[in-house]
Amino acid sequence: MTRPIRLVISGASGRMGIALLDLVRDDERFDLVQAVVSPGSARLGKAAYGDVSALRFSDWSEATAADVVIDFSGPEGLDSALAYCEANGAALVTGTTGLSPELEDRLGKAAERSPVLRAANFSLGVAVLTRLLREAAAALPGWDLDIVEAHHGRKEDAPSGTALALGHAAAAGRGASLDELAVYAREGRPGARKSGTIGFAVVRGGDIVGEHQALLMGQGERIELGHRATDRSIFARGALEAAAWIAGRAPGAWTIEDVIAAKV
Ligand code: NAD
Repeated sequence: MTRPIRLVISGASGRMGIALLDLVRDDERFDLVQAVVSPGSARLGKAAYGDVSALRFSDWSEATAADVVIDFSGPEGLDSALAYCEANGAALVTGTTGLSPELEDRLGKAAERSPVLRAANFSLGVAVLTRLLREAAAALPGWDLDIVEAHHGRKEDAPSGTALALGHAAAAGRGASLDELAVYAREGRPGARKSGTIGFAVVRGGDIVGEHQALLMGQGERIELGHRATDRSIFARGALEAAAWIAGRAPGAWTIEDVIAAKV
């Protein structure tokens, strides 16, 4: 594309939205045409960058033409962003997690008609961790496997989308589905560990940006594969890379691995 990509950020006043606003301002690949906040938000009409910019926070009722929408909002915000993309032929890049099966289904159907890229985690390090875990789980089929994740106390869904994506990769490495193997809670007297299960443990508190650790536990030895995000700009940078990559692309359900594959 020769002209800048016309970009909308959905969830623009949230933690990820603000990280995106900070980065996109000096990125010549993009022309930020709209910063969408929730309907009724106290930020509506306020300047997105303080008083030096003409861009104001708005909701979808003021929608303008765009090439790509980046969404980090919540299930409702994603639902609205998806409706906009379907009606206007824009591509969607979303990192929102904690979706209902119905919304998952809608995203899948939308990808048959327009480009949709989803990632539970936009960091390059987590993409590599996912590959490593898939390989380790396959190489050590008899070892116990648990995934521990930690996030700030305001996170609404659990386990995190990233922990679930890691669980899917580990299960795939063992030729199974996560639905068959997952254990999401242990309480009271759950009994001895069932061989082959994948357990999840969740920590919430403070300002933790996002930490994931996969423990592969054998007899007399253990492998710990982990990733620690200390700055959420890594997710914002990854989402912008994905937005630049998806602009003008064919319809399809794309992933962050497609973006990385195009770079290596
Ligand atoms: P946040 O709560 O700080 O921000 C979400 C924002 O979306 C809020 O400002 C909220 O007002 C807004 N919102 C809610 N409903 C909306 C609507 N209908 N329309 C427009 N905006 C709406 O949360 P966050 O930490 O920025 O995370 C947002 C989402 O992104 C969560 O689902 C989180 O799990 C996910 N996340 C994903 C990644 C990744 O790499 N994939 C990284 C961080 C966070």
